[in-house]
Order: sequence, then C-alpha cells, then structure tokens
Amino acid sequence: MQFGLTEEQQAVKDAARRVAQERFAPRAAEIDVTGEFPWDNVRVMREAGFLGMAFPEAYGGGGADHVSHIVVKEEIARACLSTCTIMAAQYLGSLPLMLTGTPEQKERYLRRLASGEILAAFGLTEAGAGSDAGSIRTTARRDGDEYVLNGAKCFVTNGGVADFYTVFAKTDLKAGARGISAFIVEKGTPGFTFGKAENKMGIRGSATRELIFEDCHIRGENRLGEEGTGYKLALRTLDHTRPGVGAEAVGVAQAALDASLKYARERVVFGSPLSDKQAIAFMLADMATEIEAARLLVYRVAAMMDAGEPSVTVAASQAKLFASEMAHRVVHKALQIHGGYGYMKDFPLERYYRDQRITELYEGTSEIQRMIIAGNLLRANR
Ligand SMILES: Cc1cc2nc3c(=O)[nH]c(=O)nc-3n(C[C@H](O)[C@H](O)[C@H](O)COP(=O)(O)OP(=O)(O)OC[C@H]3O[C@@H](n4cnc5c(N)ncnc54)[C@H](O)[C@@H]3O)c2cc1C
Repeated sequence: MQFGLTEEQQAVKDAARRVAQERFAPRAAEIDVTGEFPWDNVRVMREAGFLGMAFPEAYGGGGADHVSHIVVKEEIARACLSTCTIMAAQYLGSLPLMLTGTPEQKERYLRRLASGEILAAFGLTEAGAGSDAGSIRTTARRDGDEYVLNGAKCFVTNGGVADFYTVFAKTDLKAGARGISAFIVEKGTPGFTFGKAENKMGIRGSATRELIFEDCHIRGENRLGEEGTGYKLALRTLDHTRPGVGAEAVGVAQAALDASLKYARERVVFGSPLSDKQAIAFMLADMATEIEAARLLVYRVAAMMDAGEPSVTVAASQAKLFASEMAHRVVHKALQIHGGYGYMKDFPLERYYRDQRITELYEGTSEIQRMIIAGNLLRANR
C-alpha cells in the first residue's frame, strides 16, 4: 500500500490502474503516431466516471476527494499522458464554474460536464501573453444585456473538441489584471471559431487549438463572477489544478521506471544483464527515490486541499515544479538505460521523453512556479 493513502484511496488507484493499463496503454503509441483525438478513451473515462470524479455529487459528479482524483490522474498518465490531459482539461475548464458559478449557471452546464457528456476547455493564454497572463488583449465589451468578445486564445487544450469554454477577457483595458473577467462561451456561438490546431512534440493525442472571437455576442448571464475578478479566479483555479500536473509527471516517470526495470533485467551486455552493472542499478535507485519524493509532495498538497487548507498556492507550485523537473531527470536516465533502443519508436521511452516535457510548461512554467514560491517566501520573511 502506498504511504499516505487510505485503503479506499488505494483501491481507487488500483482500479484506475487496471482500466488505464487495459484500455489506454495498448493504444498510446498509435495515438502518438497518428495524433488523433482518442474519443474511444473519452468514452472509457466517461463510463468509468473519471471525467467528473471530482465534480460535486449534487450535479451528478463523483464527489471524490482530491487525493483520489490525483491518484487516478497519476495512473492514467502512467498509461497515456494524452488521455490524462483530456481529463485534466475537463477539470481545469469546469473549475471556474464550480468555484464561482451561480446556481443557474451550474444547473445549465455542470451536470453535462460532470457526466462527461460534454468536454470543457480553459482559454487564458494568448500569442502575446502566456506567463504574463495579466496582459491579455482579448476584450469583452458590454452591449446592453450582452458582451461582445474580440480577440484570440492560443494553445487551448481540448480546443475544438470541447463544447464548454471558460474564456478570460478584458472588460476594462486600462485596469491591467484587475480588468479581466471570465465568461462561459459555448461552441457554436456565432463569432466563435477555431484556428490553428497545433502539431506538437508530445501529448499528440491531446487537441491543442486556437480560439478566435470576432464580434462574438454572449449573454450577460454567461459572465462568471463579478467583472474584474477573472484574473483572481484563474489563479485560484490553477492552485487547484497544478497538483494534477504534478501527478501527470509522477505517472510518466513511473512508466519510464517500469520500462527501465524490465529492460535492465532483460538486456545482456558484456555477458550479464544491465541490472548487474552498478552504474545502471544506481540510476534505477535514484529514479525510484526521486519519483517517491515527488509523489509525496503531490499527495501532500491534495491532502491539504481535502483538509480545507485556506491557501495551497506554494504547496501546489512546489509539487508541480519538483514533480515535472523530476520527471525530466527520470526520463533522461530511462532513455540512457535503453541505449540506442530508447531513441527508437519501437520502445515507449522516446514518447515518454517527449510527453514529459509539457509538464514543465503548461499551467505555469517552472520559472513561474519559482517566482510564486520565492515571492511568498520573501514576503513572509520580510
Ligand atoms: C500543449 C500545451 C497546452 C496548453 N494548454 C493550455 C490551456 O488549456 N489553456 C491555456 O490558457 N493555456 C494553455 N497552454 C499555454 C501555457 O500555459 C503557456 O504556454 C505557458 O504559460 C507559457 O507561456 P508562453 O508559452 O507564452 O511562454 P512565455 O510566457 O513567452 O515564456 C517564455 C519563457 O520565458 C520564461 N519567463 C517568462 N516570464 C519570466 C520571468 N518573469 N522571469 C523569468 N523567466 C520568465 C518562461 O518560463 C519561459 O521559459 C498550453 C501550452 C501548451 C504548450
């Protein structure tokens, strides 16, 4: 049993692992090669209740605790990170609604999101504003009972395949980050179209697309929270979703270790298995130790959220930062252990190597996590 988990949470993890290994792992390489969006895996996640597992029971969700949610993500990422990213974006795109939606907004959308009938996406990043999200330029102009959106979002996960979009736009261009508001935009709204579908290095089965708004009229009641509170809402959302990226990193790293252990036992060089060589065995030991350290950081922040800790900002950034960079070191060693075969598409290592890299970038790069952690440290110790 994994340290830190209750028997029930361990059972959830074991069950998720069975589903992920039986249903997602066998097709992960094919999805990577074709870059197709895996609707079959979406259906499996829907049936298994993964897509809405952390959504409130009152709206048909699973009502799961954060630790259980995290361990399911870890197991799905261990099998196929593209598939896990779809589940992660479902939560990311829906969380602003869960955090600040009115009962009417929740009634209108949350049930369908919780059941996985429709997919969600989160549109914050723009071509000119990624890390510096406060300087987005998409505008939402008041027009009677409506808002009119103009601008474009880039790199949006689940873009094109989702029906429900949380979009951040400026209602006051002069107010900086305090001029940002959040809106619900449905696919099919006139003036809302999709642009470039990204051709990515990794997580190639995950849809990453540009959102374009040209005089897109949405109802005033589609605003989430008060005008000017969108930036805070985005940050609050990311506090709760960054541990999930940490779990993704732990899952991929664990897959790389699993493959390396198998390979090191089987591959014979200089008359004996690789695992007999101390240099290789030490790499395996370091990989396992780092994975466990990251896993505990990720589980810790999830447990803090379950305990109702008022602020998890620093713990969430630490978990994401350490886990994603840990996964980078682990896949590097794993590929080295596989030698030239690690570089070939016949083995999963080169996919893990490419897939892992995203965990250091999305939902705030490692530099942004360091800025958050250092900023909090320096403010607290003034
Ligand atoms: C596959 C993929 C999926 C994504 N999904 C989504 C999504 O669903 N929704 C969404 O809104 N966004 C999404 N993103 C966007 C992602 O969050 C941004 O790419 C990320 O925040 C970085 O922004 P940027 O790419 O503009 O880089 P920049 O902000 O231009 O940064 C470039 C480099 O400079 C560094 N840097 C920036 N500022 C500083 C500083 N002050 N000090 C030191 N270094 C700094 C960064 O860390 C980075 O290394 C996705 C991105 C990718 C690649």
